Amino acid sequence: MPSPSTNALAACPICGKPTVDRYRPFCSARCQEVDLGRWLKGGYRMPTEERPEGSIGEPEDNEPAGRD
Ligand SMILES: [Zn+2]
Repeated sequence: MPSPSTNALAACPICGKPTVDRYRPFCSARCQEVDLGRWLKGGYRMPTEERPEGSIGEPEDNEPAGRD
């Protein structure tokens, strides 16, 4: 009795249901979207925390004064 399906340990990380080969590693397209949404949410926060310390405190004294 061969057992080609080695995804016995694979369970949907979203709902815990058995993984469906088509939507691996999830059980359905819905869970796939849920995970994707989480991923994007987390990804959006990362670049926001990074602040370029170069444009802060820049002197705006580049305009020629004394232009009558
Ligand atoms: Zn699921």
